[in-house]
This record gives sequence, structure tokens and C-alpha cells, in this order.
Amino acid sequence: MPSDIEIARAATLKPITQVAETIGIPDEALHHYGRHIAKIDHAFIKSLESKPEGKLVLVTAISPTPAGEGKTTTTVGLGDALNRIGKKTVMCLREPSLGPCFGMKGGAAGGGKAQVVPMEQINLHFTGDFHAITSAHSLAAALIDNHVYWANELNIDVRRIHWRRVVDMNDRALRSITQSLGGVANGFPREDGFDITVASEVMAVFCLARDLDDLEARLGRIVIAETRDRKPVTLADVKATGAMTVLLKDALQPNLVQTLEGNPALIHGGPFANIAHGCNSVIATRAGLKLGDYVVTEAGFGADLGAEKFIDIKCRQAGLKPSAVVIVATVRALKMHGGVSKKELGSENLDALEKGFANLARHVENVRGFGLPVVIGVNHFYADTDAEHAKLKELCRDKLQVEAITCKHWAEGGAGAEELAQAVVKLAEGEQKPLTFAYETETKLTDKVKTIATKLYGAGDIQVESKAATKLAQFEKDGYGNLPVCMAKTQYSFSTDPNLMGAPSGHTISVRDVRLSAGAGFVVVICGEIMTMPGLPKVPASEGIHLDADGQIEGLF
Ligand code: ADP
Ligand code: MG
Repeated sequence: MPSDIEIARAATLKPITQVAETIGIPDEALHHYGRHIAKIDHAFIKSLESKPEGKLVLVTAISPTPAGEGKTTTTVGLGDALNRIGKKTVMCLREPSLGPCFGMKGGAAGGGKAQVVPMEQINLHFTGDFHAITSAHSLAAALIDNHVYWANELNIDVRRIHWRRVVDMNDRALRSITQSLGGVANGFPREDGFDITVASEVMAVFCLARDLDDLEARLGRIVIAETRDRKPVTLADVKATGAMTVLLKDALQPNLVQTLEGNPALIHGGPFANIAHGCNSVIATRAGLKLGDYVVTEAGFGADLGAEKFIDIKCRQAGLKPSAVVIVATVRALKMHGGVSKKELGSENLDALEKGFANLARHVENVRGFGLPVVIGVNHFYADTDAEHAKLKELCRDKLQVEAITCKHWAEGGAGAEELAQAVVKLAEGEQKPLTFAYETETKLTDKVKTIATKLYGAGDIQVESKAATKLAQFEKDGYGNLPVCMAKTQYSFSTDPNLMGAPSGHTISVRDVRLSAGAGFVVVICGEIMTMPGLPKVPASEGIHLDADGQIEGLF
């Protein structure tokens, strides 16, 4: 099999106008970025409001392992397959961050014959949305220090400025910095630091906003500092939001591209899946639902984090409800959950598969707990055996009464996922239960965390460290107690120990810290080490990236 970039490059792309036409978008509604990428105009999106909505399908997964699962690949494969069986389907995905492209190899535009294209542009600057977000965030940072520099009328405590700076690059040197050095003219020296752009609250706000007005209102609610008498200061207080919205205006229009099979995909927004909710923009998802019979979308990490936040944060805020959920599993990853090391994945091991199945079972029960119908998409890898696939199907049927379907979209494109598409349609068009959130918003913040930990993670209890407990009490007092919580925990385990695979129970979830994201509309609950500025490995992927004699990018993926 050729590499992802070779497959992507060999594809014949349709002009984007033609892709847009298939879902009723006229050329006047497109802002073109070359022949194969376009933004969809705000006014056109507004004009869709009265149209009926299609069905939403969420693609999530078991707890990730180094063996790979393939949520994006499955989202694309399933979308192509639904189109093949006559359902007009739009895929909604996140925009990749620039930073990781130069660190570890691996794109975020699917793989094999299930990819979105043009993949080099999608993975690199794309339509500049992340640059716009970086600029808006930086403007706010400059305005805060400028406010302090001139009379500091808001009485901002420079020791308690929470707004850090951002850049879309893996650059560990910037994690902690001192700034405003060099004398009186440069302001008040203070400690600061950088996060990667996707960790900015502007990104989370961008992805949860319904429209430009909502975007500006949410930006205004972002708490950026405290005063000397410990009152919250917002971006509205420093009068940043009008100009930030102007910088974000064009970026907030969803980006239309196509799959290798020429089907429409909206790729828009890309918040972190730990300190944020990890899904593409609400604007893109809602537009997709107006334009297609089906929207297939992906949530980051495993279902304990990705699907939970998708439902409890995104669906709750945006009034969305999935009609079916696909949980992606692989035989390889389940064998790892059953104790097999990565080196030994090449040989058949039915016992380990059965043992690791516990991880999938917990995710299935969790998703059913939301009242949602589930099907398992078993992403087929080359070295898998027929016996392993048969065993997994049998376990799913006998122990969970859930259908598991082997999918070969990676090797075959949409044709390899038609059976999954049929099953999804059957679920989505079958009987629906009401959506049940994991918790109600009126519940106290600590109890929300406890509910998620015990109900979804199988934990015995939570333990809130004193610093976090003090902050939570303050948030309740300041009127933020009714916000949903955004769990920031390792994606590799139901516990906070990344090495504890399978389906551990009775463990304790420690809450180390909490952060308020009042603009995004959630309280981030940090359990374990969370990195908001990644570093580069010893030999970064960038060393192998260059332009060849024909001007083609080499070494990207
Ligand atoms: P996720 O969205 O869960 O992070 P992706 O769909 O991006 O996963 O896939 C991760 C990587 O694994 C990609 O490079 C993709 O090409 C590869 N991959 C996915 N499915 C398969 C498969 N069936 N066989 C081989 N490689 C695969
Ligand atoms: Mg993905």
C-alpha cells in the first residue's frame, strides 16, 4: 500500500464548486482558496436556518493505544460509504494543528483510501483559521498588558493574570517566560508563558459559538485576570471583544473540502481534547445538518472523554442530538488492552482479545447510558486474522447485544464500509430514546466530577486537592456553578494512570487543579499532568521535510 501522502497526491480532485453543488451550495456562497478549498459564507449559512436537519452520527472509540484506532479514517470511510448507499452525507472534522506536523509523523486528515484532500494544505496553513485565532488571542494579551501599563483602572493584579500567550508551534522554551523586561517603557515585568494555539480559550469559544454575535458575547465572558481584591476581570472589561471578533469574522466561516471519493467535508476549528472539548465547530456541524441527510463527525480521544464532552458540552450547548454512535475498535488495540505488547501484535491472540474486550464493553455501556444506539466499527488492519474478527463479533453479540462490523475503508475506501453504513442507517432511522446527559447543570461542580468518575470511569471515588477545592468553591460563589465540566485526564485509561489499560474499577480520580473557561462555558477539571505546550522529539519530523525537484512536499507523512 502506498503512503497516505502518495495516495492523496495521486487523487483527481473535483473543483470545489462541484462538490458544493452536490449539497446545494451555490458558487456565490463560496469564498475560494484555490480550486479545492472554499469557505462557506455567513449569510448563506444564516439562510439555511429554516431548513430541516439531517441525522447526526458520532464516531468515537475505545481508549487509545499506541496500536492506533482510526476515528478520523472511519469517519471519512463511513461518510463515503453513506454517500455510496444513497444518503447525502457531510463529514465534519477538526482542523489539524500545525505544531505536531513537525514533531511526530502523522497527519490528521484520515489515512489510506479514507482521507480528506488536499491533505498537505489541510495539515499546514489551510485557510489561516489558526493564524486568525492566534492573532485574536495575541491582541487580547497585548491589550491586557497595555491596560496595566497605562493607569490600570481596573486594578488588575499583575500576579494574577490568567491569560497566557499562544503560538501554533511545539516550542517548549516558551512554556514559562518573563516579560516586560528592559525598563520603564516596557511595562511591569511579570511571569507569563505560551500555550499552543489549539489550547487557547479563543479556540474553544470559536468552536462552540453559534454565530458572530454569540462569538463576541462569549469572548466577553472570558475571565482573564483578577483584581487586587480578587474580583474576576473579563475580556469585555478590557474592551477587547469587538476587535477580536473582527479578526475572527472570516475564519468563523466553515471550510469545505472533499474526500478522496469527492464527497463534501467541513473541516473547521480544532480545540484540544483535554483542556477543551475536542470537537469541530458548532457552526460547521449545524451547517452540515442543514445541507445533508447525514452528518458524520468525530470526537477526540476515547468515548469516556470524547463522547462524554461531545454530549455533555457540545450537544447540550448547541441543542444537538446524535441519532447513532459508532465506537471504533481494532483487534490490535483490544489485544493491547488485554496485555499484549506492541511488538507482539502481529500474532493471533484470542485470549488477550477477550481480556481487552472489557475496555470496549465499558465504552458501549457508557454510550448507551446517554440513551444512544451503538454499533461497533472494527477497523481492519492488514495483520488481523479472521478468527480474531469472528471472536470480537461473537463477544459483542453475546455479551453486549451490539453489532460489530468489520470495516475495510482504509484499504478499499467507502466500498469497504458499506455494511457499517447500512447498520448506522438502521439505527439512526430506528426508534430513538431521549438524550440523557451524564449530569444536570444544576448539580454542584464537585458532584458533576464525581458522577462522571463513578458512572463513566468506574472509579470508586474522587479526591479533590485543596487548591482545586478552594477554586471550585470560589467558582460556585462567583455564579459559575451551573457550567458543565470539561475533564482533562489521560486518554489512555479510565483511570488517571496511563498504564492501567482495560477496564479498571474502584480507583480514585484525583483532581489536581481546576480552571474556569467562562467564555467557552465550562470548568476544566485537571486530573493528572496536562501539557498545553508540547515539545519536539529528539529527531523531529521536520528534519525530513523538504520540497523535491518538482516542488512537491516530501516527508510530511
Ligand atoms: P484517530 O482519528 O483515532 O487518531 P486516524 O484515523 O487519524 O486515528 O488514524 C491514525 C493513523 O492510523 C493514520 O495514519 C492512519 O493512516 C492509520 N490507520 C488507520 N486505520 C488503519 C488501517 N486499517 N490500517 C493501517 N493503518 C491505519
Ligand atoms: Mg482523529
